Amino acid sequence: MKSTKLSIKGFKALPIHTMKEENCTEIKNVKIEESGEKLVPIDTFPEKIVNQPEYFIQGIEGALPVGYLREGAYKRLLRAANMLPKGFKILVFDAWRPAKVQKSLYSKVKEMLKLKNPDATYSEISALAEEFIAFPSENENEPPPHETGGAVDLTIVDSFGIPLNMGTEFDEISENTHTRFYEEKIERGEKLSKEETEILLNRRLLFNIMEAVGFRNYAGEWWHYDYGNQRWAWCIGKGVSAFYGIAKPKFVWMKI
Ligand SMILES: [Zn+2]
Repeated sequence: MKSTKLSIKGFKALPIHTMKEENCTEIKNVKIEESGEKLVPIDTFPEKIVNQPEYFIQGIEGALPVGYLREGAYKRLLRAANMLPKGFKILVFDAWRPAKVQKSLYSKVKEMLKLKNPDATYSEISALAEEFIAFPSENENEPPPHETGGAVDLTIVDSFGIPLNMGTEFDEISENTHTRFYEEKIERGEKLSKEETEILLNRRLLFNIMEAVGFRNYAGEWWHYDYGNQRWAWCIGKGVSAFYGIAKPKFVWMKI
């Protein structure tokens, strides 16, 4: 694993680099060599990682009150949290996701997009929806990233527990959720306001600590990062295989 010697100032000074254009077909074709690594809860180290299960809070059917990640992804997340200034923590909105939640979110996104674009056809709405949420595929060769336990939606909170200003809400459907939205403004020669500069630096901090420990961002959402799954392997390229396929926590009493 690449280690990093950058300070917080260094992380904020380092621009968010451009990312490959998302190619769903290539991602689905990435080979999965399942490692069998178990899922672990993310709420057991509250000094560094805060569990805030947004879908459970918002009453999405099948959502769990605790986030789970594959052990390797969780340890990397903890390393990223350790790079933050004293008192700052990582706040997790969502991590491993049951298939039921993926399906429910997918239909909610489609409903919302249909309201916004009443004249769009069914296939146009589906294509648009997949910019925000992965198709709830039941094919184990192409699992939605969150069903692998290798994807995490997160932000950073300061020493008061207040989330840093990232410019949008989690799951907001707007173009400034694009991770490089403010980098692109600068590249176009636009001057950022004081608040926009703060957002830019906060996004850089999150992006650079997560990349430093091996995660890869989804360019459409500043909060989404992958490790070990097909999206991650595709981002790495060089014929690297994924090692996290579909996964489920081992519950004795609950059937998921
Ligand atoms: Zn996500």
